[in-house]
Amino acid sequence: MTSESRPHTPAPALLPGPVLLLGAPGVGKGTQAQFLMADFGIPQISTGDTLRDNIARGTDLGKAAKGLMDQGQLVPDDLVNDMVKARLSQSDVERGYILDGYPRTLGQAEWLDAHLVSAAVETLPLVAINIRVDEQELLRRITGRRICPVCKTIYNIYSKPPKKEGVCDNDGTPLQHRSDDTEEAFTERMKAYNSLTAPVIEHYSHQGRFREVDGARSVEEVTASIESALRELRQAGE
Ligand SMILES: [Zn+2]
Repeated sequence: MTSESRPHTPAPALLPGPVLLLGAPGVGKGTQAQFLMADFGIPQISTGDTLRDNIARGTDLGKAAKGLMDQGQLVPDDLVNDMVKARLSQSDVERGYILDGYPRTLGQAEWLDAHLVSAAVETLPLVAINIRVDEQELLRRITGRRICPVCKTIYNIYSKPPKKEGVCDNDGTPLQHRSDDTEEAFTERMKAYNSLTAPVIEHYSHQGRFREVDGARSVEEVTASIESALRELRQAGE
């Protein structure tokens, strides 16, 4: 989370159900998920967090995943799916939840669709919202990012520069440029995204419970669009 503040939004009287947030790296899925959590009182489920939680608790799934990661291997879809399944059996997901960073592949999406149909606890169908941002804009967001190592404030040399170049407004600390915020790293991530995750968007766009929102606006405007898309999708489905 950044230190940006936002006006208070009263929690809308809507049962959100399962919500899937889609979008390329850097579109702001994590930030939007935080706002949806706060506004609807539902948890965010990200595979990264679920994986770390299983490893920290030393579950069988966590041990299996850690063994593979220690050998430099990727955690396969079925292991990730099993962790998501265990997470979705917890009681805090009853009113809904936000999936962020999952499903990452078409295989995971197909498993999720089948699992949700068979899971007794689910009452509402999954809705998918894709946050769309132009690739050039994403590149500027990522390569322009600078972080204060002391107060963790995030700047962007294009859209949110510090008052004095290269140093933090709050404490005067020299700002840092993370090594994976380069054009090369971005291009690699986009390549993986386009081959693995773009088919997931294609898949959900054919299912009717899908909307796209323009992510190249202020965080508040994007949140408002996501929430109104969610309301429309839920009303259309009832
Ligand atoms: Zn600072």
